Amino acid sequence: MELIRQKPGEDRKVLGQAAEGVEVHDAEAVNDASRRELYKKREPIHPKAVHGKFRTAKWVFMALALGAYYLIPFIRWDRGPGQPDQAVLVDFADARFYFFFIELWPQEVYYITGLLILAALLLFLVTALFGRVWCGYACPQTVWTDLFIAVERLFEGDRNKRIKLDRAPWSADKAWRKIGKHAVWLLIAGATGGAWILYFHDAYAVLNNFVTGQAALTSYVFFAVLTFTTYTLAGTMREQVCTYMCPWPRIQGALIDEEALQVTYKWDRGEPRGRHKKGESWEGRGDCIDCKACVAACPMGIDIREGAQLECINCALCIDACDEIMIKVDRPKGLIGYDTDKNVKARSEGGTGSFTFLRARTVLYAVLIAGIGALMLYGLFSRAELSLDAWRDRNPNYVILSDGTVRNGYTLTVVNKASEPREVELSLESDPLMRLRVLGNQDGDLTLTLAPDATNDFRLYLSLPPEGVDAASEPIAFIVTDVETGETARTDSVFQTGEMR
Ligand code: SF4
Ligand code: SF4
Repeated sequence: MELIRQKPGEDRKVLGQAAEGVEVHDAEAVNDASRRELYKKREPIHPKAVHGKFRTAKWVFMALALGAYYLIPFIRWDRGPGQPDQAVLVDFADARFYFFFIELWPQEVYYITGLLILAALLLFLVTALFGRVWCGYACPQTVWTDLFIAVERLFEGDRNKRIKLDRAPWSADKAWRKIGKHAVWLLIAGATGGAWILYFHDAYAVLNNFVTGQAALTSYVFFAVLTFTTYTLAGTMREQVCTYMCPWPRIQGALIDEEALQVTYKWDRGEPRGRHKKGESWEGRGDCIDCKACVAACPMGIDIREGAQLECINCALCIDACDEIMIKVDRPKGLIGYDTDKNVKARSEGGTGSFTFLRARTVLYAVLIAGIGALMLYGLFSRAELSLDAWRDRNPNYVILSDGTVRNGYTLTVVNKASEPREVELSLESDPLMRLRVLGNQDGDLTLTLAPDATNDFRLYLSLPPEGVDAASEPIAFIVTDVETGETARTDSVFQTGEMR
């Protein structure tokens, strides 16, 4: 039984066969039946190679993106003695994230949150202006799939040869091409998984330990997982990841409006389409010669001439494919090109098109990006290298000594983000009768020595004689002052007396 799609005012289109046992009475029922099918077997797509400015741009971007991903772990950055010299490092052991001159501590995870918000807003802005350029050029799924298709082409030839090879019975020639292709895919996938683990420890040490079998088990596990996912997602699943697994195509529906630039078939110029013989007039017809070169080039296996589709990743390869055809038939390039739905509609009604960067939503995104970016930069360049927290003992809350003095215990955590050791003087803002003692120091000695680039814990006792006790709790503040630079940090706390007992 045939599955049929029939939009109002359109011809019936046969999509495939209904599931076995489904009784079909009309087109709507057939469509209901098709909706119940949760899985559709993947039809292999054999995109044809194209040449043109967008293809070149994609090659350049791919080289930059892959080069950065594979090589960044090997870049060194001098942070001083005892500090890791890897420019980009996620150091889980010491709970640090290093990015060139930036070093983030766990307490500063809000920078990562800010970066994610910025990245999301940037993606919203770019999508509102240029549609799915992220999907078409920069998404890792697109970049690696593009690379895997290039390898496939190297071993199996271009579209027609690949189709022929897939249909041909197994032979020595087919076997070595398939084995060669999968072997190179595995090598790339392995390099991808291997590069990933280099971001989490010193790259040279990990590489050495990895090849000599001395790396941690987690390194091998992550290598295997990343190798497998790269091979599967870019090699065998490809466009299905974008169509079925990725939420972005759905989200973009809310972000793209009729004024966003997208890869567009300009039907106002292309229709009515039809075959064209050399020397024939172009009068009374469109420029599309129905050659389907755009369809053959599409890595998603769709026809851009059917309008905006969820599957279209805006890779722009159909633009290059169609431009090649337009040159051959001596018509202006750009039958498929970056354009807005509004422009196409305006031209079809006899008007002219235009494009503006300044729209309510793009201005809003830009303002938000500038505001959050400025806040983050300010925070980053004015961040203190000295901070502290005080943790009061809870069990017991307070101790009453034989002479009636009330004593509270504290753990003072002083963070020294500088790469040198430093000495700080501890002081107290409190009832003048309160006495402070640092365990391990001489009585009255309030100097604390801080290790470099570390969190330093100190045990303290605060004591209040009975004549000073006049409330259940008293606010206090600890202050540390760098004896050399004068930099200070403070934290508020309370002193419990148990007065209301
Ligand atoms: S490549 Fe251009 S001319 Fe050929 S079918 Fe596609 S839109 Fe029409
Ligand atoms: S229709 Fe064109 S832009 Fe969209 S995925 Fe296919 S080739 Fe890329």
